[in-house]
Amino acid sequence: DVSNEINGMLGALERSQLFLSKSESALKKAIEKLQDEVLEHEKTQEQIKYIAYHDTLTGLPNRNLLNELLVHSITLAERNNKCMAVLFLDIDGFKMINDSKGHGMGDQILQEVAERLLKTLRKSDVIARHGGDEFIVIIEELDNCSGVELIANKIINCFQEPFHLENQDYFLTTSVGVAVYPADGQTPDMLIKNADIAMYKAKENGKNQYLFCTPVMKDVANETMELSTNLYRAIEKNELELYYQPQLSCHNNQIMGVEALIRWRHPVMGLISPAKFIPIAEKTGLILPIGEWVLRTACQQNKKWQEQGLPKIRMGVNLSLRQFHNNDLLNLVESVLKEIKLAPQYLELEITETIAMKEKSYIINTLNAFRQIGVSIAIDDFGTEYSSLSYLKHLPVDRLKVAMQFIRGIGIDHKDEALAKGIIVLAKSIGMNVIAEGVETKEQLEFLKNHNCDEIQGYYFFKPLIEAEMTKLLITYNK
Ligand code: C2E
Ligand code: MG
Ligand code: MG
Repeated sequence: DVSNEINGMLGALERSQLFLSKSESALKKAIEKLQDEVLEHEKTQEQIKYIAYHDTLTGLPNRNLLNELLVHSITLAERNNKCMAVLFLDIDGFKMINDSKGHGMGDQILQEVAERLLKTLRKSDVIARHGGDEFIVIIEELDNCSGVELIANKIINCFQEPFHLENQDYFLTTSVGVAVYPADGQTPDMLIKNADIAMYKAKENGKNQYLFCTPVMKDVANETMELSTNLYRAIEKNELELYYQPQLSCHNNQIMGVEALIRWRHPVMGLISPAKFIPIAEKTGLILPIGEWVLRTACQQNKKWQEQGLPKIRMGVNLSLRQFHNNDLLNLVESVLKEIKLAPQYLELEITETIAMKEKSYIINTLNAFRQIGVSIAIDDFGTEYSSLSYLKHLPVDRLKVAMQFIRGIGIDHKDEALAKGIIVLAKSIGMNVIAEGVETKEQLEFLKNHNCDEIQGYYFFKPLIEAEMTKLLITYNK
């Protein structure tokens, strides 16, 4: 009995031992599996983090990481009382390759640029992709700026060798803007913004070069920024005004027309010239509502003069490239004329030579459409760009406006005189009228009259006038 019992107990013991060892190994396996999973999870976390902080195309730090690295560099520079520099580089003409050769090719170039930069710069320098074809390099621990110049030159030289793709060599360059901490900014945003401004200026200066950010650049950029925010409300706040500059016949000095010239009366900055804000309006697209305002106001004014029984004259309105490329322009002009009940022959649209020479078939069609509704066209600042003369004769244009720069040379520079004369002859021979702009002296006037110029516009007779002055002039001047 006892031995039976002992045997039974031993059996039970054995069984439980077996069970124990089984569960032990199961436990072990479970732990191992858990460890694997933790590792896997960490790996994915790391991968997620890597993806979140790196550019997938080049493997370089992306904007997120760049920002953290910049914060770190700034802190370090501040603590050690050192300078640091942010170099903003943008590949010149990259968009053209991307557009013409496809994005695949564009990607390959970006990868190679990243490789070249990594090879050229030191391990301690940060190279990041800022987006598109923009890269940013951070240089830490600077004692002075000459070190940066060296590196900027190295970066530019990275592009000396052509990019060899699909059995062809592509020669590219880069423009670099430099902002230095602390002078050009003390936050990542500020440093990047100012380096970007300098890069933009480097492009403007002819590309393939580097430029340091300067106080003047910053002021201009800030002013542009401020102007564009204010310009947004200028129409509804009634801050835009039109001035009118008379255009006189060379034969009898009568006023044949006026050109509407816009001004912006800023409550704080005073009267702002169109040369300053029209380019901003073009960049931001605000030129469309502004241009429409100019067109409508100018036509209304002309109608008003006619209703007052004053001599009927042409109203010249300047058009910008962006307006001209707006498909609605023709409709807009037609409906404004209709709404105001102004006969179309009293409106003349001025387009620049650059506009006239672009996308030839579109221009010819559009100009023909204007001619059909009875509106005349003038080419402004003629002679300053490149015109194809064989094409010019096909353009339905009524008037050439000889650019001021040639008029200025009359009596001073024989070449300008020859060109002014040449433009008049050219225009007449293809059946266009000629008006000279910016006539300031009697000598210029006599020269132009002697060479059969049709009309004159300039300070010699009148500066651009406000409505009241222009009205007075129309009442008294023409006989
Ligand atoms: P633009 O169309 O060539 O206008 C002629 C410019 O020459 C005007 O400058 C006028 O004031 C100036 N001017 C006229 N006579 C003389 C002169 O004898 N001597 C000198 N030194 N200057 C003279 P403004 O009014 O500053 O306009 C500058 C430019 O801004 C215009 O050149 C035109 O391209 C643009 N602009 C003006 N109003 C408008 C507009 O409503 N829409 C668009 N898109 N552009 C405009
Ligand atoms: Mg003009
Ligand atoms: Mg002009």
